[in-house]
Amino acid sequence: MIRDLVIVGSGPAGYTAAIYASRAQLNPVQYEGSVTAGGALMTTTEVENFPGFVDGVMGPVLMEDMRKQAARFGTELITDDVVEMDLKGDIKTIKDGSGNVVQARAVILATGSAYKHIGLANEDRLSGRGVSWCATCDGFFFRDQTIAVVGGGDSAVEEATFLTKFASKVVLIHRRDSLRASKIMAERALSNPKIEMLWNTEVVDILGEDKVSGLALKNTVTGELSERDFTGLFVAIGHIPRSELLVGQIDLDDEGYVKVEGRSTRTNLPGVFACGDLVDHTYRQAITAAGSGCQAALDAEKFLAH
Ligand code: NAP
Repeated sequence: MIRDLVIVGSGPAGYTAAIYASRAQLNPVQYEGSVTAGGALMTTTEVENFPGFVDGVMGPVLMEDMRKQAARFGTELITDDVVEMDLKGDIKTIKDGSGNVVQARAVILATGSAYKHIGLANEDRLSGRGVSWCATCDGFFFRDQTIAVVGGGDSAVEEATFLTKFASKVVLIHRRDSLRASKIMAERALSNPKIEMLWNTEVVDILGEDKVSGLALKNTVTGELSERDFTGLFVAIGHIPRSELLVGQIDLDDEGYVKVEGRSTRTNLPGVFACGDLVDHTYRQAITAAGSGCQAALDAEKFLAH
């Protein structure tokens, strides 16, 4: 059977696309991902800026509710990864991790982004042994310890603030002398007595044999090198688009984001639409991702009607 629409990816973009597409009777199949179902908000804490939630809402609760809303209108949710896609031609083919193949006339890509790595040799080796990208997942293991967070954006200050619940001290290491994070979140972190700022500093190595024991640091202004003891390092330096399955078949920009036409979600391939963090360099908010998921469903609906 050839379906009208397959949505690849979950998160606010994918689930919103699914809500709109299923209400438009397109009977979408949605691949949510296996371990990544729900997307980046599954590993955040309180979301205070999603309109409609006066007192804030926990990221995982928001995603679970969006998922239920998509299911309520008939979206067929598959908790598996897509491993191969052929998006050229009128009928698109999607293969999942269990070996199943689905064919569809239109596809919405909403695979989001993945955590960026610093790129140090010891980063992957000590991953899960003191190096982490997710404070809500791993913070609990660092009770009463001194840990470092690297980054200067909203993610870094959010992670640092959250980690003060467990750690005795959190050192926020940033390569410049001012934070990129929003004022309200930055001020909250800077006024927290458990957070120490280390400005103009780069992590040049992660020390430790079986687990993290410290960091080698470099002052980005003076070039001075130093070492400091830490039992954990949380990396919060942004994200990269999850477009690896698309390389070679769809137009991507230099950083790997999917290119779309103007303000639409249309890619260079007819019947293929992209939304959320996969296309967005700039805003990358839950609400903007949800908005672009809505646009993708409307674009797909229009395409299928023609
Ligand atoms: P981001 O805004 O891109 O910030 C990344 C930070 O990491 C920057 O401070 C950057 O330094 C630093 N950095 C990048 N590469 C580095 C490297 N190789 N070594 C050391 N430092 C490096 O990413 P983000 O904080 O993940 O936020 C992404 C988006 O999600 C933003 O739009 C943010 O507003 C949003 N967000 C919102 C919330 C919320 O509202 N609750 C929470 C989290 C994220 P420079 O400043 O020098 O470039």
